[in-house]
Amino acid sequence: MIYLKTDEEIELIRLSNQLVGRTLGEVAKAIKPGVTTLELDKIAETYIRDNKGVPGFLDYQGFPNTLCTSVNDNVVHGIPNDDPLKEGDVVSVDCGVLLNGFYGDCAYTFEIGEVNFDIKKLLKTTKEALYKGIEAARHGNRIGDIGYAIQNHCESHGYSVVREMVGHGIGKSLHEAPEVPNYGRRGYGTKLQQGMVIAIEPMINLGKKEIVIGDDNWTVQTADKGVSAHYEHTVAVGKSEADILSSFKFVEEVLTLQS
Ligand code: MG
Ligand code: MG
Repeated sequence: MIYLKTDEEIELIRLSNQLVGRTLGEVAKAIKPGVTTLELDKIAETYIRDNKGVPGFLDYQGFPNTLCTSVNDNVVHGIPNDDPLKEGDVVSVDCGVLLNGFYGDCAYTFEIGEVNFDIKKLLKTTKEALYKGIEAARHGNRIGDIGYAIQNHCESHGYSVVREMVGHGIGKSLHEAPEVPNYGRRGYGTKLQQGMVIAIEPMINLGKKEIVIGDDNWTVQTADKGVSAHYEHTVAVGKSEADILSSFKFVEEVLTLQS
């Protein structure tokens, strides 16, 4: 069952996602070598609660924290811990918020200090692929058009697309129909309609596409231990172009000031 959202509901989902974006902006201010992901998690939880939101991932199916922090070969669903981040690491920070009855969901992969050129290129390509997927998220297209756009861009650069983990509809629930794979065939899959709100989230590996689940039963890791990148926006499918409800603006303002 796909829930189409009214314009009013889309505005509420935008508010939830703007809080997620500002929370990631707070994370951006603090993230650097020596900081632990658990410290980032506390910053995020405090900021969300101070702004009248509820952390969307905390206790979701038993997940123990506010953020998913996935370092290097961790793809998604990493659990914050006490290990200090190191120069050259990359970390996907995924954040969800429940506000006014609606969820927001957005993720950004951060570079810790100076990162190897090959990994920088993976991050850049994955972010580009996210926007190519968003471009395909228009009324009358199909889910496969989004996946094709992402897959084509990443595979043409020699990267591989994780298959088991996918994007999703979002609204009153964190995960709603439809699933939004990051691979696919043009013209195939569920038809996209104005009012659908979906989270598009490419998870792209430097090496092979295969994944394994870590000992904590949460962390998704690359089987070959290569680095993985992950960016996510929540978008509303529009008549012409998609409306991006989440935002990297708060993150990128901080990163620009630091560079
Ligand atoms: Mg997410
Ligand atoms: Mg998501």
